[in-house]
Amino acid sequence: NKQIVLKSYVNGSPVETDMELKLGNRVKLEAPKGSKGVLVKNLYLSCDPYMRGRMQDFHASYIPPFTPGSVIEGFGVSKVVDSDDPNFKKGEFVTGLTNWEEYTLILKTGQLRKIQQDDAIPLSYHVGLLGMPGITAYAGFYEVCAPKKGDYVYVSAASGAVGQLVGQLAKLHGCYVVGSAGTSHKVHLIKNKLGFDEAFNYKEELDLEAALARYFPQGIDIYFDNVGGSMLDAALANMRVHGRVAVCGMVSQNSRTDKQSFSHMFSVISKRITIKGFLQSDFTELYPRFLEDITGFYKQGKIVYIENMNDGLETAPAAFAALFSGKNVGKQVIRVASE
Ligand code: NDP
Repeated sequence: NKQIVLKSYVNGSPVETDMELKLGNRVKLEAPKGSKGVLVKNLYLSCDPYMRGRMQDFHASYIPPFTPGSVIEGFGVSKVVDSDDPNFKKGEFVTGLTNWEEYTLILKTGQLRKIQQDDAIPLSYHVGLLGMPGITAYAGFYEVCAPKKGDYVYVSAASGAVGQLVGQLAKLHGCYVVGSAGTSHKVHLIKNKLGFDEAFNYKEELDLEAALARYFPQGIDIYFDNVGGSMLDAALANMRVHGRVAVCGMVSQNSRTDKQSFSHMFSVISKRITIKGFLQSDFTELYPRFLEDITGFYKQGKIVYIENMNDGLETAPAAFAALFSGKNVGKQVIRVASE
């Protein structure tokens, strides 16, 4: 059973060599009687920025750290090979937390969700568009941003797993939407494939505050923040009165080259801005509606989804590290085995 193991805790941005491929024990392809578990074959594994937080010994986080030397855990799409849980049958597809390895005995079956197979929807979308990043975008936009038709919306990391959906939902809602990303290719996709009104490469802007003022001469009503740091500060400077900032992620804060510093915090008072942090896990009750709405939008051609698919478990460490240099274009997924 090939596995990806975390070698030791990570400092700064993760690199490929923080993880390694190991040959684990031979697995018996059965779920032990009495275990109440399911033995699954992992098909797709998800690379998500939050996993960086588990690669350090920081217990104050909302999720416990990994143990160095042990296999990495993350979201995946898997096929049931054998089951000792009456709720799951051999051959069914499931999504939930699994391990970065070929086969996993999942004992916490309560967190697994069965996938209703649908030829129109790729299975891998259950860790992207219809998975954790999808509900993050859906709940973050509709529940945290309190959007109104005509609002001016800005999304950072806009071509990523979460950002690309936020922008498209905002367009469907009748908002004016601008996204930023770190390459000209991503900027092109944001404008031409994802249908945002405008997009820019933040790495080409010397003055982020001035760049946002150029794209939003009338100011920003909603900032969906995926990056934190100086971008959040620049957005605060450009918010309109009663603007809303949904603080979704702070991916810029891992590299420590762009430490959080705010010179525009006073705007929160002067413009009565609402800044709200949120976790997608606060919105599990929205899941059925989310699945129905997003599946519908996708099938009607109202939204698209960009994936960055890498082949082979051995590619996972580099693919994960790439999230922090911006090499991924869209939702980063690893194909471990064919369906
Ligand atoms: P992405 O698919 O967007 O991948 C990460 C992207 O972040 C990279 O492609 C890169 O794009 C950008 N990035 C990396 N480093 C920096 C940096 N130093 N400054 C600015 N941008 C950077 O990831 P996700 O869509 O999965 O996640 C987006 C954010 O949402 C993350 O912060 C994540 O932690 C957060 N999140 C929060 C959740 C919640 O419940 N609150 C749930 C899920 C995600 P670029 O080329 O544009 O630089």
